[in-house]
Amino acid sequence: MTILFNDQLIARDEARVDVEDRGYQFGDGVYEVIRVYGGHPFCLGEHLDRLERSAREIRMPLPYSREKTEQLLLQLIETNQLKDGYLYVQITRGAAPRDHAFPSKSEPVLTAYGVESQRPTDLMKNGIRAITQEDIRWLRCDIKSLNLLGAVLAKQAAVDAGAQEAILHRNGTVTEGSATNVFIVKDGTLWTHPANHLILHGITRAVTLKLAEKEGIPVREEAFSLEDLRSADEVFITSTTKEIVPVVEVDGVPVGTGQPGLVTRKLQQAFEQRIGVTV
Ligand code: PMP
Repeated sequence: MTILFNDQLIARDEARVDVEDRGYQFGDGVYEVIRVYGGHPFCLGEHLDRLERSAREIRMPLPYSREKTEQLLLQLIETNQLKDGYLYVQITRGAAPRDHAFPSKSEPVLTAYGVESQRPTDLMKNGIRAITQEDIRWLRCDIKSLNLLGAVLAKQAAVDAGAQEAILHRNGTVTEGSATNVFIVKDGTLWTHPANHLILHGITRAVTLKLAEKEGIPVREEAFSLEDLRSADEVFITSTTKEIVPVVEVDGVPVGTGQPGLVTRKLQQAFEQRIGVTV
């Protein structure tokens, strides 16, 4: 596999990461996961906007211009003949003698690689089971940082319970999933947590909200409670790799009829059309 290491395309085995890289020691860096459909990156501009914002928020300079980063990622897709899958892109503050404060001198380190993977059509069709978990993450969830232990522990709790996602809440207010944004449908209205510091501003979330508007579905970007979640007619999650996936069970209790709902189906269809236009 050929990967991107800074601005070089090299064999994966040839990449060397310093043991004192701050990403490795502190999670001091940011990342993106970008979907590739038919060899084309989906919403690349939005992902690069978010990457730039995340880097700015942690006061980390990016190694290359927007144009150069874009060009390198397109070369990565081309070289690997990536058709359907995703790119993982991360940038750390680089290597320096271990000290929590920013080093006076360090060069950011970029690594990126492609993964071939199909759309999770079974999950989209049949839905998933979710559990609820206290959101123990920090208060800057809007930064797509490499610190993912809160998400790792929540997702593992879901897996241990035989579920596929953990829906997080702070004192009974639902925020998002361990690696997804969460939506509910109640009396025909779509609800999702506002894009503030408590959630990642998902690209798929934004696409979904636009599609809902186009479809004439009323939307409320307002926080909702665990009780709202439990009494919702429909629940679904969104992410770059999952797209729109219905949640048919929460903590072992069926959501609505226990089948993916009509609003969810409508948005899934609209999403497929949106991808069709882009590919
Ligand atoms: N929230 C969290 C915590 C995530 O990790 C992700 C996936 N990276 C999302 C939401 C979904 O974001 P996106 O649609 O941009 O993939």
